[in-house]
Amino acid sequence: MNVATKLIESHLVSGEMTAGQEIGIRIDQTLAQDATGTMVMLEFAGLGIARVRTQLSAQYVDHNLLQVDWRNADDHLFLRSACEKFGVWYSKPGNGVSHPVHMQRFGVPGTSLLGSDSHTCAGGSLGMLAIGAGGLEIAMAMAGEPFHLEMPRIFGVRLVGELPDWVSAKDVILEMLRRHGVSGGVGTIIEYYGPGLACLSAMDRHVIANMGAELGATTTVFPSDAEVRDFLAAEGREHDWREITADAEDESIYDLHDELDLSTLEPLIALPSSPGNVVPVREVAGTEIYQVVIGSSANPGLRDFAIAAAIVKGQQTHDRVSFDVNPTSREILEQLARVGALADLIAAGARIHQAGCMGCIGMGQAPASGENSLRTVPRNFPGRSGVKEDRVFLCSPETAAASALTGVITDPRELAISYPRLDLPKNSTVNTSMLVPPRPVGTEVELRLGANIVSLPKFDALPDTLEGPVLLSVGDDVSTDEIVPAGSKILALRSNIPEIAKFTFTYVDETLYDRAMAIRDKTDWIVVGGRNYGQGSSREHAALAPRYLGLRAVLAESFARIHAQNLVNFGIVPLVFQNPKDRLDILQGDVLALPKIRAEIAAGRVGERREPDAGSLIHDAPPAELPCSGDRSDGRPAQRSPIERQANLRREIAPACWSATEPITIARWIAGMGVCTERSGAQRLEHKTALQFSGRIACTCVS
Ligand code: SF4
Repeated sequence: MNVATKLIESHLVSGEMTAGQEIGIRIDQTLAQDATGTMVMLEFAGLGIARVRTQLSAQYVDHNLLQVDWRNADDHLFLRSACEKFGVWYSKPGNGVSHPVHMQRFGVPGTSLLGSDSHTCAGGSLGMLAIGAGGLEIAMAMAGEPFHLEMPRIFGVRLVGELPDWVSAKDVILEMLRRHGVSGGVGTIIEYYGPGLACLSAMDRHVIANMGAELGATTTVFPSDAEVRDFLAAEGREHDWREITADAEDESIYDLHDELDLSTLEPLIALPSSPGNVVPVREVAGTEIYQVVIGSSANPGLRDFAIAAAIVKGQQTHDRVSFDVNPTSREILEQLARVGALADLIAAGARIHQAGCMGCIGMGQAPASGENSLRTVPRNFPGRSGVKEDRVFLCSPETAAASALTGVITDPRELAISYPRLDLPKNSTVNTSMLVPPRPVGTEVELRLGANIVSLPKFDALPDTLEGPVLLSVGDDVSTDEIVPAGSKILALRSNIPEIAKFTFTYVDETLYDRAMAIRDKTDWIVVGGRNYGQGSSREHAALAPRYLGLRAVLAESFARIHAQNLVNFGIVPLVFQNPKDRLDILQGDVLALPKIRAEIAAGRVGERREPDAGSLIHDAPPAELPCSGDRSDGRPAQRSPIERQANLRREIAPACWSATEPITIARWIAGMGVCTERSGAQRLEHKTALQFSGRIACTCVS
């Protein structure tokens, strides 16, 4: 048995471990970050349960750190009061990014972790079963409910060889993205094994596991071996270690397989504006840059900052470059100070920011218009930096530091210095001063609901026949950053759906909000998308905000897992084209009708299932293969509508044409949006599980 299957088996509460079948797993730990956490706490409060039923739940304040007005600060106080009330650990603003802090303080090999952040998968670096999900799933897990998902295929990746100088863990995951693209891990758990693991520390593995989210994987796992034991020992928690390894180092125990010879890797870089646009650094060397940002959960370790400090030590970064350093946690910031690396960074011209996500989520550090920004963060989706026409490149700390010195994208191997050998302390400087433990059972606490927390809108039930215009048609790989953007201005509105809805699809179509508001009281409307719709961040606002504006169904070629779940949770029907060509026949402005949709879902009549394409890897087809009606600024196709005709056709999608593709089980259908809050009195939130169904719905023809 491989590690992933062992972890699932030890948490299985329902279903069989057959790829594509629904399974339910017990959740030991949960985490939430603040940008999703206010919703999680409201949803949990609505369940009427006095205290969390997990082994451990933690709430981090790492996203909304800038306090330019009262909003974020008020939300921090709400989250703290909710933690005190419900028995949750509270990580104060400035303590650090959830994933590395959780790994350092709470990560336990062999346990399961569900987090309302798509990079929760980083916990797989310790041999945990760590999965990102929507906020409602986290609230349910906090209440002791199992998490339901489709049993993934296990994708074994054998690592051999040793990383050369100037090449590090970030280049390993960029190589995976270069090979398999942003949907190459969909429906899989990626498990790394083999002799190459010996040169990857637990924090290096965090880098690789974290960005498994960019491959679309359900999660990533590493074995819990001597490296993990050393990591926990350095954090003063060796007692939490236990060995978890595969029964054999053998390709045959995996559903899919790949091999990476680490010794052949070179510095890599993802070009704007997708983590899948990966090329060798040398191919774009010499490109002028304006900014370098080091930090984020994609390069969180002490080593990642210390290597950058060693590269710039005794030199000045280029006059043109803003060299921004975001320490991952206070613990690491303190260690950087103790080993002298912080002084080296400051002397070289670094702008040192507080510990947290910061520029990674557009919380400050927005680049200037049209200027190139080089970052060690995991994502460069359009607009994520807070600037619509941004040009963000993703790379390793080595490449980032080298480029900060020269002012142009630089292959670090070209620097006139030898690779710095770091001599870092064996043990961490454990600092828990900003980590507040849960209050004792029975403590009376009032929730501090600030004015920024606005009741969730009430939504009506799914109609018998769903009919409405296609208000928007988009291309492949549309991210949740494009559906509801990040950035300091918008993130502060995460607890106010009517306000944040004003930014829905703003980077894709600035007219969408006004067009939706004009019809939302008269009719539902529909979005048509391409492959991998809703990739990226787990934010449920990417479902809630469009739902508030009247979106009731999305027809796409395929969906990202977390977003599909979020759509279902908030009453938007995710439909999959069984025949992708049908998409070409639907134009923006057409009116689609789905008769008897409610009855068909309730009856589970979703037609024939097609087994997943076992034995082969999923690769993205190059956009050039597909006709498109216009290009986006990032080079991806805008939409594919080659048919020369007027829009506004009414087309009926007959129930007989539905069938399930890419089998997935959606365990809970919160229909009619039985999710509502009243701000008066005790926050009451009702969940009505009105319909249960299994199977993703698909339409095969448009008549
Ligand atoms: S990816 Fe960026 S925004 Fe998300 S948790 Fe990591 S540092 Fe924060």
